[in-house]
Amino acid sequence: MPTKTSVLIASIASAVLFTVAAPTPEASAASITKATYQTTDALNLRVSASTSSKKLLTIPKGKSVVSSYKTGNWYKVSYSSKTGYVSGSYLKKKVAVKASTVGTSFTKTNYTTTDSLSLRKSDSATSTKLLTIPKGTTLSSAYKKGSWYKVSYKSKTGYVAGSYLKKKTTVKTSSAGTTFAKTNYITLDALNLRTSNSATSTKLLTIPKGKVVTSSYRKDNWYQVSYGSKKGYVSGSYLKKTTSTSASLPPVSTADYSGSTMYVLVPFNDSLTLRSGASSISPSIGTLPRGSVVTVTNALHKTKGFVAVKTSDGRYGYVEATYLSLFQPSMSSRPLVVLDPGHGGHDVGAARYGIYERDIVMSVAKLVAERLSKTVDVKLTRYTNDYYPSLTDRSVISNAHKTNIFVSIHINAATSNSAYGAENFYYRGNSSVALSRNLQKNLVNSIGLRDRGIKFGNLAVLRGTNAPATLTELGFLSNADDRAKLVSPSYQQRYADAVANAILSSL
Ligand SMILES: [Zn+2]
Repeated sequence: MPTKTSVLIASIASAVLFTVAAPTPEASAASITKATYQTTDALNLRVSASTSSKKLLTIPKGKSVVSSYKTGNWYKVSYSSKTGYVSGSYLKKKVAVKASTVGTSFTKTNYTTTDSLSLRKSDSATSTKLLTIPKGTTLSSAYKKGSWYKVSYKSKTGYVAGSYLKKKTTVKTSSAGTTFAKTNYITLDALNLRTSNSATSTKLLTIPKGKVVTSSYRKDNWYQVSYGSKKGYVSGSYLKKTTSTSASLPPVSTADYSGSTMYVLVPFNDSLTLRSGASSISPSIGTLPRGSVVTVTNALHKTKGFVAVKTSDGRYGYVEATYLSLFQPSMSSRPLVVLDPGHGGHDVGAARYGIYERDIVMSVAKLVAERLSKTVDVKLTRYTNDYYPSLTDRSVISNAHKTNIFVSIHINAATSNSAYGAENFYYRGNSSVALSRNLQKNLVNSIGLRDRGIKFGNLAVLRGTNAPATLTELGFLSNADDRAKLVSPSYQQRYADAVANAILSSL
């Protein structure tokens, strides 16, 4: 390869060329364009334009002299501080090659090397070779000198012969990507993260409304973002620029408790330990009897986690989050019902038309709790839409208490919009079956839902929970009639009453 290159550029790469341009004899003296000449042999510098005139000195062969005046075939030149005349028969005009000295900038273009070729220090085949670029390498250039293209390869910048570069034709895809400055966006609605920039591409997950995502690349109106552990594209129609970063937003886990007034929920005559640190081995700094009011000052909501609280008498400390409830327990011994609004946080559950199971079951659960809290103690596995307790967390919360009944509240969805009605699932024990039957009966009778019956359900939240448990499906979000009821506040109260009545009749 280097051979080819050398041959190719030899004619243009040398800085200087010699052309045979012997001065033609002329009778008269004349000023000529100043030019440099090389002596083709040793020749005499004489006082005047005549072989008979006095010789001043001999100029060796191969020396450069400058002349701007000639008479006949005699050129007036200076050499070694003497000025005189030399015969033009022994001079060759020096021609400077300009082509390679003028560079041209152009739009950055990608090229593929059609053979291995030398990267050289400058635009000449005789300049230092920096390295060899293999055949098939993609190079970018935006500057050339003659047919020498300035490129960079492996941290070296130099010139390569253009003869071995082929312009890369960029495949014009339907949507070329655009890279831009890293920007934070808030999701205006729950939106799907997809594998590519198309609404028909595979859905990876749903990003909940109100989350902050970061993007620095988009294809048309599809923005590349990461969420959870997935990377994909979301529609820009549901993104709004935000100055806040995910770090400055309240973490999802604090939303459940922070700033809330809550009640100590422990068995009658028992108390909750107030500790100096967020750990069960942190020193005790006091006890809080059942029903004590605390304000959560910093909520790290983990099932077995601790939250920072301020007591009503001004003490600060930490208590186990599991033993706090939004609903005030009585100062007597009462049954305890744990309500589990399904899903939460990033897990929106069934979704249709921007309506989420996550949110409806939260509303219904709170209505059930308010109703029940007049006669029984109530604990919820979550208190806000934003918080997601794992399925294990939900069972652990229930199992941490002397729970009498556990009800997980859900809404169905099906691909066919014709499926509708209520159903209840049990996992083990006669009391779970009875509880499921009571819920089913009350929902069907008081709301007029289609009876889909009770079913055995090998469901994690039921398996892990010790108390008699049911998972109730209030209806289908995918069915227009069911959905109309599910989103209606008055119906939500009726669902809540049906669930509460069934629970009370099962105790
Ligand atoms: Zn569900």
